[in-house]
Amino acid sequence: MDIAKVIVDVPVRSTDRPFDYSIPEDLRVWTEVGSRVAVPFGHRTVQGFVVSLEYGDVQAVKGIKPIQEVLDLVPPLSPELVELADWMSERYACRRISALQAMLPTALKGKAERLISLGEEPDSAPQGDTLFPDEEFFPVFPGMDRVERAIIEFVRRGGEVTMKQLTRAFPDEAETIKFMLRRGNLQEVQFIKDKMGKKKLKAVDLAMEPETAREALNSMSARSARQKEVLSFLIDMEAVLPMPLKDVLAALQVAAGTVKGLEDKGLIEITEVEVYRDPYRGRDFKPSEPLPLTAEQSAVYGAVSRAVDEQRHEVFLLHGVTGSGKTEIYLQTIRRCIDQGRQAVVLVPEISLTPQMVERFKGRFGSGVAVMHSRLSSGERYDEWRKIREGKAMVAVGARSAIFAPFTNLGLIIMDEEHETSYKQEENPRYHARDVAVRRASRCDAVVILGSATPSLESYYAARSQSDESFAPGLLEMPSRALGNELPAVEIVDMREELKEGNRSMFSRKLHAALQERLDRGEQTVLLLNRRGFSTFVMCRSCGYVAGCPECDISLTYHARSSNLRCHYCGHAEPSPDTCPECGSEHIRFFGTGTQRVEEELGKLFPGMRVIRMDVDTTTEKGSHEKLLGQFRDKKADVLLGTQMVAKGLDFPDVTLVGVITADSALNLPDFRAAEKTFQLLTQVAGRAGRHTLPGEVLIQSYTPDHYSIIHAGKHDYHSFVREELKHRKALHYPPYCRLILVTLSHEQMPIALRMAENFAKTIEGKARQRRWFGSMDKLTADGLDLLGPVASPLPRLKGRYRFQCMVKWRGEIDAIGLVREVAEELEDSLRDPVLQISIDVDPQMLM
Ligand code: ADP
Ligand code: ZN
Ligand code: ZN
Repeated sequence: MDIAKVIVDVPVRSTDRPFDYSIPEDLRVWTEVGSRVAVPFGHRTVQGFVVSLEYGDVQAVKGIKPIQEVLDLVPPLSPELVELADWMSERYACRRISALQAMLPTALKGKAERLISLGEEPDSAPQGDTLFPDEEFFPVFPGMDRVERAIIEFVRRGGEVTMKQLTRAFPDEAETIKFMLRRGNLQEVQFIKDKMGKKKLKAVDLAMEPETAREALNSMSARSARQKEVLSFLIDMEAVLPMPLKDVLAALQVAAGTVKGLEDKGLIEITEVEVYRDPYRGRDFKPSEPLPLTAEQSAVYGAVSRAVDEQRHEVFLLHGVTGSGKTEIYLQTIRRCIDQGRQAVVLVPEISLTPQMVERFKGRFGSGVAVMHSRLSSGERYDEWRKIREGKAMVAVGARSAIFAPFTNLGLIIMDEEHETSYKQEENPRYHARDVAVRRASRCDAVVILGSATPSLESYYAARSQSDESFAPGLLEMPSRALGNELPAVEIVDMREELKEGNRSMFSRKLHAALQERLDRGEQTVLLLNRRGFSTFVMCRSCGYVAGCPECDISLTYHARSSNLRCHYCGHAEPSPDTCPECGSEHIRFFGTGTQRVEEELGKLFPGMRVIRMDVDTTTEKGSHEKLLGQFRDKKADVLLGTQMVAKGLDFPDVTLVGVITADSALNLPDFRAAEKTFQLLTQVAGRAGRHTLPGEVLIQSYTPDHYSIIHAGKHDYHSFVREELKHRKALHYPPYCRLILVTLSHEQMPIALRMAENFAKTIEGKARQRRWFGSMDKLTADGLDLLGPVASPLPRLKGRYRFQCMVKWRGEIDAIGLVREVAEELEDSLRDPVLQISIDVDPQMLM
């Protein structure tokens, strides 16, 4: 190959296409589709990704420049992922470079020196199976030829060598080096400035062939009995050497000095090996065996595993009530998939990526599980990613971006809690992991399972109508709990009645009594409050003044710890006022209810009650989430009080009461999905009660107890809720009956922002009319496009920019995304004002 087509990392729209570069002779072997390269661009050197390779006459291309450097020895992306990025770029109207970047762990985004070291051992901490790592992960020495051994020796002597050093020492062996990297004899390590640094571990190996060692053993004097014991042990364990020193010490209960003595005698070697920074290292994961499936589970498993066995692309929507045993289905399907030598990705919402969840996967698949989430340091995340790329992990469990796990033979993608909005990325590229999963799976002939107790209306509707050819999941239902217990009884408490009867507290009499009962019986309670902070806003009771952010035009939030007011969007902070800045009144105070207020109130009403509060403020520190849940599980508290975090995936046997302080707070948000989100949240939190032998009770307090989402949540009746909600969506032309594109235009100067937004809207309308798309939304079967706005965004001013938005609604076979992108680009080109920003959000989830 002579020419590489490269997508460069230059933040200008006109660069969103591949540029040609010639490939210097010495870089040919390293340049592949998916390679990250440094290339000259204008007067600078920029990073880029090779997206294709071509034969060609380099001389004939005017001004072609050579690739300067290949940044990784093993390309970080596969051709499959490069193609996926192309698709994302069209599907989400984003730049190809931003799609490509999104697929890499942060550690790989910067330019850092890559070093080569010997293939490393996998983590050998006890993780389910054995004390010792699997043999197959070891550098394979037998059968290596002379050159390979020489390379190994060269690297071993250097410890870590740079690519230049290695290629200079073996100028004709690039292919061999490459092969050894692929096979895992050598590995590329990235130097990451991480507070963790690289972890080294002392490892023990025999200094001679086992037969020779045995002779030495026999001739050792009886006085060194302990040393003999160690040596004999190592001879027996020859197959798994080198072995971590600490494992030897632990297994034989000997002192380090004893082992050192053997080294001094030249019988063994103690070396340092690098190990993965496994965040779960040292944790004991209870090995778990597959459970015999219930009848409902068997039916589901049968359907899914058939597709897995046939390696046929198929999407399933698994609607199973909370506790129906969806996770067991996931685990057994994954086993099926990895037994065929294919890999599996498990996506879970960040918030429910709890230790409990991780434990279930690690317990079943041991160290073959890579875990990726945002609470890991960037070095840890890189290591987990590398485990996947190097084929040392078969299963990746992670939040949204784990959909880009660099597996090469993907057979299964599972998306748990598929309705969660956190699967949509809210910044560029604004992708939805569900769409990406379906697309990726169809390319890999892989199976997708979308699981939820409350599937999103989009997925459920697609499964029901089977209309959309690209995404028509097969519907699988599990209406009962795996352990045979009933879903908990739910009672809705009318808070208006409470007020009428003179109860001004945030606790109804019912909830108060139920809490007391749990205290008396020594059972536990989960309380949900869908808010953050001490209270929401500061208002003057005399004049109505509300403290707002000078930048963002939203109300500021009071934080009790620092006693100041903060903006949740831009971070602006100011001291909380004692008197009203408008009228001077002293009646200025905090309104709304936050978790801290509830905690204080609980303390007053139930002296001695032990409460664990879990919200954004108490879970910022790494591991704090885990710690708090651990305390609750160990029954160090009577009540777990928190925001959405407490609603997801927790499974505690002694929780018999779930209370929702106000169900309405989410219902009144300016979002067409407010009812759906409320229903989902209430159903999820209700599912936390009575999961084991003790029966559960759920109390939902509400000021609008007649709302259908609250009524149906109270009856665990997903189907009735969906029927009603779909009627509303259809009448008002909302998804799933159409699709949306949210376009936000912003500028530092308000008149320019407004003019551009109007301009944009007019152009879209004009072009849509020309194509006869415009205004046919009412005819439900027809292609059509409609446009709302421009209006001021719900956040009219953010970080000093004025924002206006247009909402494009469309349906059918038309290329609405292409049209929006085209108009946005024309506008940017005609204005040539770098201050103007146009953001395009295809299928937006956040409309506030
Ligand atoms: P879901 O993910 O659908 O909410 P889980 O997978 O957490 O449900 O299962 C709920 C409970 O039922 C768990 O305690 C789990 O161990 C148990 N369970 C699931 N399947 C079975 C089974 N086939 N036999 C026995 N217990 C099961
Ligand atoms: Zn005032
Ligand atoms: Zn602000």
